[in-house]
Amino acid sequence: MTLEQQPSVCTFDCPDACSLTVGVDDGRIVKVRGSDALPYTAGVICNKVARYSGDFVHGAQRLQHPLRRTGPKGLEQFERISWEMALDEIYERVGAVIGRWGPQAVMPLNYAGPHGFLAGDSMSLRFFHKLGATQLYRRALCGGVRSEAWAGTYGAVPGCPPEFAEHAQLNVVWGNNATATNLHLVRGIRRAMRAGGRLVVVDPLRTKIAEQADLHLQLLPGTDVLLAWSVAAELERLGSLDTAFIAAHVLGAEEFLALAREWPAARAAEACGLQESQILTFVRWMAEDDPLVLSPGNGLERSRNGGSGIRAAIALPALLGKLGRGSGVVLAAGNAFPKTPAKLYRPDLLPAGTRTLTINDIGRHLAEDDIDPPLRALFIYNHNPIVVHPDQNRMRRGLAREDVFSVGIELTMTESMTHCDVVLPAATHFEYAELYASYGHHWLQRAEPVIASVGDSLPNTEIFRRLAARFGFTEPCFEATDAELMDDAVDMTDQRLGGTRPSKIPTRRALQMAGPDGRPLVLFDNIFPATPSGKIELKSAALAERWGTGAALPAWREREAAYSLMLISPASDNRISSTLGDLAASPKAPPLLMHPADAARRSLAHGAQVRVWNDRGEVVLRLAVTDAVRPGVVASEKGAWLKTSPTGQTISALVSADLKADLAEGACFNDTPVEVARV
Ligand code: SF4
Repeated sequence: MTLEQQPSVCTFDCPDACSLTVGVDDGRIVKVRGSDALPYTAGVICNKVARYSGDFVHGAQRLQHPLRRTGPKGLEQFERISWEMALDEIYERVGAVIGRWGPQAVMPLNYAGPHGFLAGDSMSLRFFHKLGATQLYRRALCGGVRSEAWAGTYGAVPGCPPEFAEHAQLNVVWGNNATATNLHLVRGIRRAMRAGGRLVVVDPLRTKIAEQADLHLQLLPGTDVLLAWSVAAELERLGSLDTAFIAAHVLGAEEFLALAREWPAARAAEACGLQESQILTFVRWMAEDDPLVLSPGNGLERSRNGGSGIRAAIALPALLGKLGRGSGVVLAAGNAFPKTPAKLYRPDLLPAGTRTLTINDIGRHLAEDDIDPPLRALFIYNHNPIVVHPDQNRMRRGLAREDVFSVGIELTMTESMTHCDVVLPAATHFEYAELYASYGHHWLQRAEPVIASVGDSLPNTEIFRRLAARFGFTEPCFEATDAELMDDAVDMTDQRLGGTRPSKIPTRRALQMAGPDGRPLVLFDNIFPATPSGKIELKSAALAERWGTGAALPAWREREAAYSLMLISPASDNRISSTLGDLAASPKAPPLLMHPADAARRSLAHGAQVRVWNDRGEVVLRLAVTDAVRPGVVASEKGAWLKTSPTGQTISALVSADLKADLAEGACFNDTPVEVARV
């Protein structure tokens, strides 16, 4: 056996974007481990990628040939066809849709399966722009609320590097199931704690990182804005606000504090389901400890008050003047990279006036035909909408329509793919060259393929290159090679690239996106807010313009619930959202976690099968009685496949797609009223 060791990068939807060393034997991946090419991840990767990458690439589930549906949608009845036949069928069927309804009846339905610049979206968007297809606003599904909250407050600048956590006196992990989703941040926090630093975790669930915290604020879901306001008000009462910093660098502090003063610790404690003393301890540590590093996750954005919660939380370091000199907010790392999306995506090809639809509304548009022109052709790629969208049953009804022609591009026969008419086999990130930014750190990486494409699979770029040719698109941009696409993805004149073309960045050494002074990019060290005022905007005219006048300042919307329990859906250690959900790592449905008091009230025993339901659907899960959740809250991990469920529904079936967060039309996965009873 001759084992070759090849450098690569993990492409999954995870902020860490770890550098990898891939062991290849006879064209097959036999071992994947971490490498030192990226100093931040430093040779460590998560268990799921180390254990399951071989199966992910070479397992029996891997799609290897184009397929055409032969039976009803959803039943997984397909026949093998050639690439030529597949492209012909797509051209004819999509052409017929365009002929009858116009190009806006066609739409990409994609999200963030792979995270590289090329596979994420490059040639694909050029194709849809030229086609004149309906545009998709994707950020509403995940991350958009957080991005808008940050951009409105600080502008298009990166937060501090996650490496800062290692030297913090106080780490605050807020709505961030970091052990499952941000592994290397946790390693830094542990090192800080060994050096005497403190950790506060704000989360309705006692996650693994919460178990390690000095203080766990187990608040009611969606009350983050009240907690943050209260902390601000109590810091002011203590005289701990940095008035000089505020005067120089913060806009709207007085209006923000006027709202905050309505929520002294005693009142906020009651509303958030906390003890007043816990809030006051948090306040004292926020005032005393320096450096302070705040790491908000996606958890708190997924409620009706999500944008307000994040804005109020990230206002706290600003009010304390704790930004720079080791302090900061770990967020918006994507802004560290010199991206050139106009060159990569070519929006200039798009006909003027083409509509944009929001991703969370697509299930409704499909199922109810409530738009003109209706959606009649979809390209589903990098995405598993049936499992990950809110209101799963409505999405499923929409995808099951026989009069909607769907093309799927995938690695494996997901439950979304079973609803497609033609399924095209995609290559994994080990099979093509790729350029990687990250949404969790400030390092640019590149990888070469480590094995040949499996079966007849092709990289997304080549699939859309062939589609463009079949549709007769003759612009030179549709002939761009993958290397040319990389060079179009980031600004090659950026001094941090040192004159190297992006397509030539070494694969064994990540490139740090540092500041002009060569030091890491850090607000108030070497970069400053990029808001319209140049200040940190706690009151934002830009957000008000984009999301309504009520969005000028954080706000609080009461919850009116018809059911007495609130369901939240944290990330799993075994999957990345639904990715890897068909491998041995995810053989069965996750349990439903319920507090002993709620279980006793319903006469439910640990291990029982229970129904979890509301007006939208019903899921059967095994009950785990535990005080890891607080009374009034139940939790079950997101991303399980439908086949793990006796009802053929998973918890996404219970989540409203019509309830939207206060920014970015964000999905409210953690704002789901349910009831639970014995089966
Ligand atoms: S999923 Fe995340 S932690 Fe795991 S290897 Fe990939 S980037 Fe690293």
